[in-house]
Amino acid sequence: DDALSAWAQTGDRDVEGTLRPRKLDEFVGQPRVREQLELVLESARRRGVPPDHVLLSGPPGLGKTSMAMIVAAELGAAIRITSGPALERAGDLAAMLSNLAPGDVLFIDEIHRIARPAEEMLYLAMEDFRVDVVVGKGPGATSIPLEIAPFTLVGATTRSGSLTGPLRDRFGFTGQMEFYTDTELELVVRRAATILDIPIDRDGCAEIARRSRGTPRIANRLLRRVRDYAEVRADGKVTREVARAALAVYDVDELGLDRLDRAVLTALTKSFGGGPVGISTLAVAVGEEATTVEEVCEPYLVRAGMLARTPRGRVATATAWEHLGLVPPADLPG
Ligand code: ADP
Repeated sequence: DDALSAWAQTGDRDVEGTLRPRKLDEFVGQPRVREQLELVLESARRRGVPPDHVLLSGPPGLGKTSMAMIVAAELGAAIRITSGPALERAGDLAAMLSNLAPGDVLFIDEIHRIARPAEEMLYLAMEDFRVDVVVGKGPGATSIPLEIAPFTLVGATTRSGSLTGPLRDRFGFTGQMEFYTDTELELVVRRAATILDIPIDRDGCAEIARRSRGTPRIANRLLRRVRDYAEVRADGKVTREVARAALAVYDVDELGLDRLDRAVLTALTKSFGGGPVGISTLAVAVGEEATTVEEVCEPYLVRAGMLARTPRGRVATATAWEHLGLVPPADLPG
């Protein structure tokens, strides 16, 4: 049992926690959001009030959860963590809200997936630090107003577009997280390698960074897989050659696209002639949920200039055709 729990604590699953930056100045990248947040937090600190509610928006793995924890740490506050899908019943949210201590940070991940009754409860909580608890059912039901401690809500979403207007309006600040540059990702890889004690040279870092789809979570994951390869098939040191060989084993291509990214591009070009094709049709063709294709794959394919979203559907660009080794149709723009 002891061995098992020791393994669980040091195993790969816990690595994300170990690698999380703890303070704003440890956080690599996102200079804009960092500067904006710094002002929001510092001003609140000077006025001695909890800062405005913060919404962090952007694709998965860009550091929204890490940033929420940093907000709490910078405020010297405790953080409570939950997620939109976990708040199916308003009662679950009421319980969380009424347990908050003054100044606490409440983090709701995937806040766009919160159920309607909980969302409505959140309006009043965010605005007036109150909840209305409904007791009983039917005509005899009464609502009891309950005061809660002043808190700061940090919401994270992969699609700020699907937040309702009233919810979006109640956030005083929205930080738009962007994909990281290769140089920033090299710093992420370097930092993780130091923490995990992985010998790596400059070129090894650069190779992993370049193939991480602009995403620190992916950079950290690829580093661990390359480390495995280096230990088992080489002398333990991560070089460019070792990184290239390892990433080939894990189906990560030259541009960092993974199997699903390539499946989307292949369907779009080979099955649908380059589009336009609707997102749900495309998702069925690759056997994935539409939301996964939309929130996980597409943002990076768009940023890499391979896929365009048009009013009539998704379109493959010339770059996408060429990346797959195909000849783009003659009438393709761009
Ligand atoms: P999100 O909530 O946006 O999905 P997370 O905050 O969970 O992303 O980040 C995923 C992982 O990526 C973290 O565990 C951390 O290891 C790493 N990470 C994210 N942002 C950074 C960063 N700016 N610097 C270093 N590591 C980061």
